[in-house]
Amino acid sequence: MSAQILSGRDVAAVVRAEVAEQVAALNGRGKTVGLATVLVGDDPASHVYVRNKHRAAEKAGMISIDVNLPADVSQEEVIAAVHTLNGDDRVDGMIVQLPLPSGLDGNAAVEAVLPAKDADGLHPYNLGLLILDRPGPRPATPSGVLRILEHYGITTSGKRAVVIGRSFLVGRPMAIMLGAKGVDATVVQAHSRTPDLGAVTLEADIIVVAAGRPNLLRREHVKPGAIVIDVGTNRVDDKLVGDVDFEGVSSVAGGITPVPGGVGPMTIASLLVNTVQAAQRTATLD
Ligand code: NAP
Repeated sequence: MSAQILSGRDVAAVVRAEVAEQVAALNGRGKTVGLATVLVGDDPASHVYVRNKHRAAEKAGMISIDVNLPADVSQEEVIAAVHTLNGDDRVDGMIVQLPLPSGLDGNAAVEAVLPAKDADGLHPYNLGLLILDRPGPRPATPSGVLRILEHYGITTSGKRAVVIGRSFLVGRPMAIMLGAKGVDATVVQAHSRTPDLGAVTLEADIIVVAAGRPNLLRREHVKPGAIVIDVGTNRVDDKLVGDVDFEGVSSVAGGITPVPGGVGPMTIASLLVNTVQAAQRTATLD
């Protein structure tokens, strides 16, 4: 068997076109849509991520505001930059690019973002809304994973799903979102202390891997026909690879996301969705 390739790149193009239409509609009503980022320090990977976010925002017709602070900035200055953007009417969605340089508290910076402008969906208030199953911006990467499943017509209701990883960024919200009413998978959350991970994944119809460990999921861990979503991004010998042995697993799975071109593009698309939805809420209130 050769797995269907679930192209996040293709799905992201669809989502971005939808967002661009929504932005144009808001513009038509006199409302601009703005995405702001706060980037601290010189980490090259963070600069690339932020640049890609701005490029995507501008392509969707958004205003993009880029705040760069030097690595030796104080915590108070980071918070002040966030507060300034909170008060800026042009800004509908905001991202504090994590991790911050050592010595700075990334959680405190994220908590300073106004929950209504939280493009990442990672503010504790919004994570609370997620647990309560109430509307609000959802964490971007798990949202992107659900959109891939939806796009390819992969049903989740009644399916057994395993999420490998329990970070607040990906694994934990992913498990909650897969098990939420309307999505309705039966979810097992695995992590580094899960004994015999393979025995757990072999039971699953859908496997989401977000561990940051190359080659963690291999052919022998996957039930024939299962759907495998690889969130991992790892640099190995200067190559970007996921957490899944792509070649081995695609010979047994029913569908698989590649790395690159899988979940990564969906994370950015989901940020744009959160931002345009925030702008729609503001426009309704105006
Ligand atoms: P993280 O905070 O390091 O969390 C990794 C999780 O994986 C932890 O819960 C850890 O378990 C678990 N884990 C580690 N080794 C394991 C093993 N051998 N078996 C089972 N579980 C294991 O990482 P993260 O922020 O969630 O990110 C995970 C990966 O996704 C990284 O490669 C990251 O770069 C990537 N990522 C990609 C995107 C994207 O857009 N494509 C977005 C975000 C993250 P413990 O809790 O027990 O330590």
